[in-house]
Parts: sequence; structure tokens; C-alpha cells
Amino acid sequence: MEKRYNALLFRRHPVLLRDREGMPFGFEHANGWFVLVDQLMTDLESLLRERGVSEAFWPRVVQVKEKFGTLRFYVRDMFPLNSAEDDAEGDEITGLLGRLAMEKVGAMCSLRPVSEIPAIAERIRRAEEESADLCERCGSADGLLRRGGWVHTFCDACEDLYQAADTYPDRDWIYVPIPDAEALLRQNK
Ligand SMILES: [Zn+2]
Repeated sequence: MEKRYNALLFRRHPVLLRDREGMPFGFEHANGWFVLVDQLMTDLESLLRERGVSEAFWPRVVQVKEKFGTLRFYVRDMFPLNSAEDDAEGDEITGLLGRLAMEKVGAMCSLRPVSEIPAIAERIRRAEEESADLCERCGSADGLLRRGGWVHTFCDACEDLYQAADTYPDRDWIYVPIPDAEALLRQNK
């Protein structure tokens, strides 16, 4: 995602995104999913507050990217899973490893981090599912296509531009302004 949108998300969600060094590439997808991930993190914050989880134990976001044309949003839990091992060492081990789950896309299988908190895992799953219906470039939900050797999720207009390009479009082509994100930048929120 464009640098200024990345910075905006880090500013808006400082606790979930406190592991800046662990996310050297920031949000590894185009601008079109800005609203989706911003809303997702706002909802995760509400869910954690509702459950009375102190901020020190909120999950950390460790990677956000596009994979096989849809969003992947990886978090690692920070709370000790076994209260009998409720010591600093236990926290550390849980924080580093988290829980991994098998994910299957077509014939491909891979491991991914998931939260042990069901409501958190479910909300993330829903956002990842919704990304399949949102253009990764401009955020539109109109006439979605997922085609080409390089699978991606673009609306008809973006797909036409993509197909019309003689060569693979350069990096800047992917970055178009997202009205909601521009409004937040203007309001400095
Ligand atoms: Zn589009």
C-alpha cells in the first residue's frame, strides 16, 4: 500500500500495529483494501475492549498481504495460553509462536498464524473473505474479475487498464487515491 496510507494505519491502530519492525514491508497490498483493513482493525479493537483484554495482551499484527488474489491478515496472540505457565517465559513463547493453522487454496496447502480468540479469528476470516469482492487497486465492488496467470482481484475498469498495458504496469500504476483514506488524511485522524 502507498506509504502515506501505511503510515495512516500505523497511526490509527498503534497497539495492534506495535510491532513495526516485525512488519518491515507494512501492508503488502494495494490501496483498494484500505477501508477493509482499517474497519477490520477498528472492530478487533472493539472486540478486545469488550472482552476486557488489556492492551499489553492484545494480539500483534505480524503480516498483512495479498495472496492468491485475496487478503491475508496474520496476528499472533500475546497472552499466555496456559495459566499454569503464567510467567514471563510463557508469554514470550506464546508471543513468538502463536497458533498455526492449515490453509488450503486449490491444491496448495500452507500454514498460517491464527488467533486463539474465536471472535478475533472469525472477524479476520470475514475480512479476508470480503476482499475477494473488492478491487485491490481502487476498492470498487463493481464487476469483479479474477483472471490472468497472476491471480488478482480487480474491478472491470482496473482490469481493462491492466490488460491494455503493453508490459506489466510499473509499481506506481497500482496506486490510486481512495476517497475515505484521503478524507482521514485531511482530518488528520
Ligand atoms: Zn478497481
